Amino acid sequence: MQHIHDLIGVGFGPSNIALAIALEEKRHGGRPADALFIERQPSFAWHPHMLLEQAHMQISFLKDLATLRNPTSRFTFINYLHESGRLPDFINLKSFFPSRHEFNDYLGWAARQFDDACAYGEEVFEVLPEKQGAEVPLLRVRSRREGGGVQERLARNLVVSIGGTPRIPECFRPLRGDGRVLHSSGYLRDIAKVLDGGAGRRIAIVGAGQSAAEIFMDLQGRPGAPQVDFVMRARSIRPSDDSPFVNEVFNVDFTDYVYSRPSEERAALLEEVAQTNYAVADLDLIQQIYKVFYDQKVARGERLRMLRQHEVRAVRASADGIHLQLRDQDAGVESTVRYDAVVLATGYEREQHKGLLQPLAPYLGDFSVDRHYRLEATPDFQPGIFLQGACEDSHGISDTLLSVTSVRTGEIGNALLAALPRMRSAAREDVRVAQL
Ligand code: FAD
Repeated sequence: MQHIHDLIGVGFGPSNIALAIALEEKRHGGRPADALFIERQPSFAWHPHMLLEQAHMQISFLKDLATLRNPTSRFTFINYLHESGRLPDFINLKSFFPSRHEFNDYLGWAARQFDDACAYGEEVFEVLPEKQGAEVPLLRVRSRREGGGVQERLARNLVVSIGGTPRIPECFRPLRGDGRVLHSSGYLRDIAKVLDGGAGRRIAIVGAGQSAAEIFMDLQGRPGAPQVDFVMRARSIRPSDDSPFVNEVFNVDFTDYVYSRPSEERAALLEEVAQTNYAVADLDLIQQIYKVFYDQKVARGERLRMLRQHEVRAVRASADGIHLQLRDQDAGVESTVRYDAVVLATGYEREQHKGLLQPLAPYLGDFSVDRHYRLEATPDFQPGIFLQGACEDSHGISDTLLSVTSVRTGEIGNALLAALPRMRSAAREDVRVAQL
């Protein structure tokens, strides 16, 4: 007989760690939900290749894994500080914004408390319907271990929380696999190879958001002082708007408001508030960058350039470097510049779940979700499939961030736990183990 999990969570980043916490806190002494999480990294790490020295959180520590849902939770950032012996010192910092290193440590501390509920080093690559006659009562989740072995598990429910995949502009796609073209998601790992090889003398950063700005500050201060071009379509880097009235779009009750609006209105709303999160950077970081350029002017240097209103029109790779054909939109002229490496800080896409769930597509229609993040399905399809981080269109701009994570996982937990007793009695328990 193959074991049937009440729930399999794909990915063990902040969203599913928060779900593990919510489920534990909702037990109230009853039978626990049998939840297993599958994470492709060998151990927990939060965007490890962007853990830059000076980087800090862009969100209050109070929007941690638990506080907004349950301020008395033992998984709050404050309790982490307390258990780490740093609570008084943190108070003395007088900051709501811990360093990203510290927040990663907090998330890792929380993740470790669920070590027995997470299979690390496995990548889920497919989810199949487990049919019983005309009905689908269960899901078969297939994952691949680091060594290549395939594991299959059965589940009554699935929560897909797999984050984003790098957005690679069209003209760079043929160069996937060329180690001289990096995406910000792998920055620290990949830039080390470029610089260690001694090749990274002239580097372009493409983008104008927070990651691009952080990478610029990191690169310009590196030993060996590489030449850095900061290439952006925009006229300037713009500050993220985190002023209090605007910030209300990240309040948890705003999710209800967004979800209740017609789809055209939601799309307009997303566009209206985009400057809180997309293609913008923290004001203090922008000021640091301005100072770097000012100091260069004083020193009459030319090592660093900000190529504003420049669009990458074409890319060519050759033995001596990556050649970018750049159009200066202001002057209306084109030029070709050779770089040793190009860093794409071009953001993320959030469509990956559709590939993973492709075998279920006949039951899932257009992949739309209800208010509790559950994919709408045909009546013969019983498993609940929930999405975290892929519902910006329906639930608003906070969906990909940490803002509503703790409350969202409470809502998903409630929906899961309400359906479980019926699902447990309905699902057959006699499916044979399939270990390939
Ligand atoms: P992720 O953190 O992306 O976690 C997804 C997990 O799923 C990963 O561990 C991944 O390895 C795993 N995975 C993916 N595919 C599979 C698969 N097929 N099988 C198994 N495992 C899989 N948001 C904020 O609110 N504040 C911030 O300060 C902030 N800073 C950020 C800084 C950076 C550099 C980046 C890139 C994002 C930042 N964000 C921030 C947004 C970020 O999306 C959230 O902070 C948070 O990481 C979302 O959590 P998640 O669990 O949904 O996704």
